Amino acid sequence: MLNADLHCHSNVSDGTLAPAELAVRAKANGVELWALTDHDEVGGIAEAREAAAALGLRFVAGVEISVTWAGKTVHIVGLDIDENAPALIDGLASVRGGRVMRGREIADQLGRAGIAGAFEGALRHADNPEMLGRTHFARFLVEAGVRPSMTEVFRDFLVEGKPGFVPHRWATLEQAVGWIRSAGGQAVIAHPGRYAFSELQRNVLIDSFRDLGGVGIEVVTGSHTPDQYGEYARVAQQAGLLASRGSDFHGPSESRVDLGTLPPLPAGLSPVWHHW
Ligand code: AMP
Ligand code: MN
Ligand code: MN
Ligand code: MN
Repeated sequence: MLNADLHCHSNVSDGTLAPAELAVRAKANGVELWALTDHDEVGGIAEAREAAAALGLRFVAGVEISVTWAGKTVHIVGLDIDENAPALIDGLASVRGGRVMRGREIADQLGRAGIAGAFEGALRHADNPEMLGRTHFARFLVEAGVRPSMTEVFRDFLVEGKPGFVPHRWATLEQAVGWIRSAGGQAVIAHPGRYAFSELQRNVLIDSFRDLGGVGIEVVTGSHTPDQYGEYARVAQQAGLLASRGSDFHGPSESRVDLGTLPPLPAGLSPVWHHW
């Protein structure tokens, strides 16, 4: 099967490598079809496309949009998009809008928990300040020695019920799928195994997503356990959704799964890339 890696992040959002560095790494790891999917931002696409072309690596433009659904954050990946589509550009700008204010509130909470200087500390890790997010705070907390690794940080901070969690209203599901479709792309539910939904809620999410014109779901992702590959292969088949595969790589020292190294999609699925 084609080695497709259709989910990763550059330093334009919360990854640590530049788009061109990711292209080199993807090629070296044997990726044959690659997408850059930065959070809420397409500013790295031009560099990624150019670097991929120079390497003879097939590339499609992507994005990972933050959505609030049923009071929780859900991520929707858009693939094979026209990154210059006006509705997409405007929509993503509106989603990015509140991140710096949210960052100040995160830092205030951390300050009350006895951790000073978090706003400035997180900003130092954000190459694109407009995209300031929890990953940048987590890097600061590791650097400051508050916890030894990102895993411990995201256990004790920045998540619901812990210091540094600030509820935020992202895009609606309808907006995210609509922007992706208006840019000629395919909408895909990212890492479905990561959401704390009941089976009923999950089914409602999938039905709503499909009604809005969403077509795919990630099955093999760096955010799933091997058991979840099988579970979401069944979900994809039952729901009639195309299947996607992507490492969700954020950087060499942070990500468990490197670009292009996941197992192939289970048999019997329709890969999202088949009609590209
Ligand atoms: P934000 O969009 O600012 O809420 O940040 C979300 C990002 O935080 C995700 O895209 C991940 O990169 C990171 N993240 C969330 N939970 C974890 C976790 N448990 N371990 C590592 N990174 C995480
Ligand atoms: Mn991320
Ligand atoms: Mn995600
Ligand atoms: Mn991601």
